[in-house]
Amino acid sequence: MISIDHLKCSLDFNREGKQFGNIDLGYSNNQYAFDKIPTPIICIKNGSGPTLLLSAGNHGDEYEGQVILRRLIHETEAQDINGRLIILPALNYPAMLDNARVSPLDQGNMNRSFPGKAGGSPTSAIADFVTTQLLPLVDAGIDLHSGGSTSYYLPCTFLCTAADPEITQKNLGLIDAFNAANTLVVRGESSATGFDPIANRAGVPFISTELYGGGNVDRKATELGMTGVRNVMQHMGIISNQTVLKSSIRFFNGIDGSDHLSSPYSGIFEPVVELGDEVTSGDIAGQLYSAEEIERKPLTLRFNNSGTVLVRRNGARVRRGSHLFLVVSSMSRKQISTLS
Ligand SMILES: [Zn+2]
Repeated sequence: MISIDHLKCSLDFNREGKQFGNIDLGYSNNQYAFDKIPTPIICIKNGSGPTLLLSAGNHGDEYEGQVILRRLIHETEAQDINGRLIILPALNYPAMLDNARVSPLDQGNMNRSFPGKAGGSPTSAIADFVTTQLLPLVDAGIDLHSGGSTSYYLPCTFLCTAADPEITQKNLGLIDAFNAANTLVVRGESSATGFDPIANRAGVPFISTELYGGGNVDRKATELGMTGVRNVMQHMGIISNQTVLKSSIRFFNGIDGSDHLSSPYSGIFEPVVELGDEVTSGDIAGQLYSAEEIERKPLTLRFNNSGTVLVRRNGARVRRGSHLFLVVSSMSRKQISTLS
C-alpha cells in the first residue's frame, strides 16, 4: 500500500503474478463529496527482469492506445513475460469517462501537468504519483496518444530529445524497436511539463505515439501500436516470441522544420489533401467558406511550407486560429545525434 496525501494505491509492485488495482484519489466536490477517483493500474510480474511502464488515456478522448492496453492486459499472464509490466490504461480517468481531452474536475491536461504536485488538483496529484512512485521502478516507458477528437495523425512515434544525449540515444533505441514507419522528432525541453521529458529527466528512456485519432479506434493504427508495444517488450527481453520485421523509419523535424496552417476566420473548411501527402509551399490546402457571409467568395488557403502532411483537423467547422494541417519536413537520423 502506498499512501500519500489523499491518494492510495493498494498494489504491491514486488508481488509476482497479475494484479488489478487503482490509484484511489480522495476528492470532494459537489459531485464527488464522499467518493474516490479510481485511476486503474495493472501490474504483471514474473521474476526480476526489466520493467516497462505503459500508459494511454493521458488525453481521455484518444482511444487506440486505450484499446491496445486493454487487449494487452487481458492477453498477458505473468508466465508469458520475463520482468514486469506496469500498465495505466486510462491515465486521466475522469477525462476518459467524460470522452474529453482534459479532466472535467479541474480542466487538467495531464500532459501539461508533470511532474505534478502531491495534494494538488486531481490531475496534478495523479501526475505526482506517476513521477514519484512509478518512474523510479521502471526501465523504460511508452505513452500511447492519438489525435483525439479534433485531429488525425499520420500514425507515428514521437522522439523527445533529452538534455542527456545518452538518454536521447536510448529513446532512439526504443523508437527503432517500436518500428513505426514515421517518427516526429521534438525537443523535450520545449514541453517541460510533458510526460516524456519528465521521465527522461528521471533517467528513464521514454517514447510516445500518435496513432490516428478522431475520437475513434482505427484498425490499422491499433495493429501498428500493438505490434510496436510488443516489439519494445521483445527489445527489452520481456517477451521472446515476437517476430520483428525491421523496416526503415522516416524522421520528421518537429523542432524547426514544421508549420501549422491555421484558419484566418470562422467558417467551413473543405480540405483537398490527405494525411501523408507531400506538399510544396504555395500548394492549395483547401477552401474556407465564411460561416455567416454566404455571399463572400471562398478563400483559397495555401501551405506556407513544404513537406509531409502529418496532422489534419477533424471537424469541418473552424474558428479563427483553428489548426487545419501540420506539415513537417524530413530529417536524417544523423541530424538527431547533433540535437539536444
Ligand atoms: Zn494526446
